[in-house]
Amino acid sequence: MDLDAKLGLDVFKVAPASHIELDAEVCKVCSSRVCLWVCPAKVYTEGEQGAINVRYEGCLECGTCLIACPEPSGLTWRYPAGAFGVHYRFG
Ligand code: SF4
Repeated sequence: MDLDAKLGLDVFKVAPASHIELDAEVCKVCSSRVCLWVCPAKVYTEGEQGAINVRYEGCLECGTCLIACPEPSGLTWRYPAGAFGVHYRFG
């Protein structure tokens, strides 16, 4: 079973609000933009005029973006509240 198939087994209970917030001004001047390629769930995508869009609904809560981001002042990340977020299913 490949990675995409394994991730497809997971279930997400989507919170009404994002647990990830970006400072648009910080992200606009970031030259590396590593979030676009380190996130295994492709939560971050490039938007218009240098913006970074966040689709928090598919976050795997792995923490990779927290470690990789070279401008951590622009990234606020916390676990989703209560029972929201990813529920892993192994198989
Ligand atoms: Fe992507 Fe992991 Fe960061 Fe969630 S915690 S946004 S899955 S890199």
